[in-house]
Amino acid sequence: MTLKQAIIRPEDCIGCTKCLDVCPTDAIIGASQLLHSVITEDCIGCERCVPACPVDCIDLMPMPDEYNPEKLDATAKSKRSEHIRSISQQRKERLARLEAQEREAFFASKAESSERKGYLEGLLKKEKL
Ligand code: SF4
Ligand code: SF4
Repeated sequence: MTLKQAIIRPEDCIGCTKCLDVCPTDAIIGASQLLHSVITEDCIGCERCVPACPVDCIDLMPMPDEYNPEKLDATAKSKRSEHIRSISQQRKERLARLEAQEREAFFASKAESSERKGYLEGLLKKEKL
């Protein structure tokens, strides 16, 4: 089986960021509403981004020899595995940080709304006196 890599057709990308969400190695760069592109060195050809794209603008091309584990010697292969492990780990940590921040923001907004509720209840009580 020939290993593949993803490539984004720039003229068709609408910058929706859906491919970013599913890439296990954070190999896609771009911001909302802007053109996205694939970092060739970081793409492992898992193909998850292909069905995620709503405008079908991601193609698969044969993986260049310098990134293809089937074409690398033992040293280069181990170096590449280490690189992929490292960027996958960085992604996991980034997502965990994001989740923690979102959780914190959620509880902060809950606390704020219960404070506001308490304040309004206090005002109503005063009016009734
Ligand atoms: S094929 Fe996989 S690794 Fe490559 S860009 Fe798409 S989701 Fe990321
Ligand atoms: S999913 Fe497709 S259209 Fe959306 S940012 Fe990625 S490549 Fe562009």
